[in-house]
Amino acid sequence: MDSMQSFWPVSHRDDDFWVCMSCLTEVFYRKVPMPDCPSCHGVSTYEGFTLEAIRDWGTDELIAKASSAQEVAALVQPAAEAATPVETAD
Ligand SMILES: [Zn+2]
Repeated sequence: MDSMQSFWPVSHRDDDFWVCMSCLTEVFYRKVPMPDCPSCHGVSTYEGFTLEAIRDWGTDELIAKASSAQEVAALVQPAAEAATPVETAD
């Protein structure tokens, strides 16, 4: 076991933002931390939301985290992800 945070890649359709429903302070884009939440260590506490939904009820901090998570994911998106069909709505 190493000290690096590991993630499960998770792709949904629209609700690509995974929020920890236990502590509501962690959000990840198209992935969830494993084996548990890095903040509260809750297991299977993550639920998928759209960015719009998070903007609706999230704290400023959570919204900022969601936005930056998406930006980072876009930068480090592995090539394997490109092989997955992606629905482009716009
Ligand atoms: Zn948590």
